[in-house]
Amino acid sequence: MLKVVKVRLYPDSQQQQSLAQAFGSCRWLWNYCLNLMNETYKETGKGLSGYEVKKLIPQLKKENDWLALTYSQCLQQACLNLGVAFNNFFEKRAKYPRFKSKHGKQAIQYPQNVKISDHQLILPKIGKVSAIIHREIEGKIKTVTITKNCSDQYFAAILFDDAKEKPELIAEGKSIGVDLGLTHFVITSDGSKFDNPRILNKHEKNLKLKQQQLSRKQKGSNNRNKSRKKVARVHRKITNCREDFLHKLSRRIVNENQVIVVENLHIKGMMQNHCLAKSIQQAGWGMFCTILKYKAENEGKIYQEVDRFFPSSKTCHVCLNQVGSLPLDVRYWTCEKCQTKHDRDINAAINLRDEGLRILTSQSPQVGKPAHGAGSSGTGDKAIKCGLGGFPHEQLHQEACRPDVSHSNRGRKKSTTTLSVGQEAHTIPSGQCG
Ligand SMILES: [Zn+2]
Repeated sequence: MLKVVKVRLYPDSQQQQSLAQAFGSCRWLWNYCLNLMNETYKETGKGLSGYEVKKLIPQLKKENDWLALTYSQCLQQACLNLGVAFNNFFEKRAKYPRFKSKHGKQAIQYPQNVKISDHQLILPKIGKVSAIIHREIEGKIKTVTITKNCSDQYFAAILFDDAKEKPELIAEGKSIGVDLGLTHFVITSDGSKFDNPRILNKHEKNLKLKQQQLSRKQKGSNNRNKSRKKVARVHRKITNCREDFLHKLSRRIVNENQVIVVENLHIKGMMQNHCLAKSIQQAGWGMFCTILKYKAENEGKIYQEVDRFFPSSKTCHVCLNQVGSLPLDVRYWTCEKCQTKHDRDINAAINLRDEGLRILTSQSPQVGKPAHGAGSSGTGDKAIKCGLGGFPHEQLHQEACRPDVSHSNRGRKKSTTTLSVGQEAHTIPSGQCG
């Protein structure tokens, strides 16, 4: 299984200079090749592949002797990456490749020959760079990407193969429906609601101030440069806080559940609503789903998306009665048929879970089967069966309303505290349950 670990690097001033040289050379080469590809296409109607431009490097080195100062494989990799960028564009995964700027984030990539020793990364032509390696890196190192961000921090993303097979996906265990929202970031079918941290709002005033200060500085001045770094620092803070929140919450959901069902949101479309665009963007739903997916799959758990047109809010999860319309400001409603009182979001999350389980059962028939042997603890069976129509609410709700599992948080601030457990929403009048 391929894994990536990102570590912080602390190059000394000499190394910083060599890195700057390498960043510059690779950037120049990328831009040169991109321009060449554009021109060739205009003249002949045919493009060049990454391999074809790679062959030009020896000639370019003769013309520009400073290119030889950079490790040759980094240069080659820049050409190959450009080829990949074009492929991604033609297969509609990405936009047209752009020219790289000397402002902003810089990167080079080593396809091989990087070694790791204690607290050090040994890079060809750069030397031993001190690093904080906070995680064990076991296995064959594939590529190492060195980046420098706008606030002059250096990182290395180390891709390695740990030679282990990806775990098989197992559906037996607790399942959960996750509804994403703006007031509460996550609402689960368990009845837990996690508050949206709205990190941008907290830093907005500070960001505005720093941006105003920047705008008053003269272009090209030293003070402008200093001010630019201050703005970058605020942006970095916001990103770090958001990622921290998303990682902690997704880790918690993945640890506690085996099957995770999420709505497949059309985020780009929702962003068209300019009143909500900013809130949606700062919430980071897309990133959250990506994180949930890889965390689940790395542990043999199932991540399932439900079609966005599935009427999760409007359906009563007890009797499956659908109401015609449910305006957004209605947070609580009562089902006409079975008189169940619903919390809008929790009901939606439960429906998502049931629908996800239905999809899983229809995809692979063995998912719904009871576990072999009476000895199995079988919480999974309950959860899976409930997707098929039988609703063992009593057991489910006992599970759902159990107090939070307390983890030792190893001195870290826990940013994913449950806001409220909607007890009220769970109480289903007896006799109504199927
Ligand atoms: Zn109902």
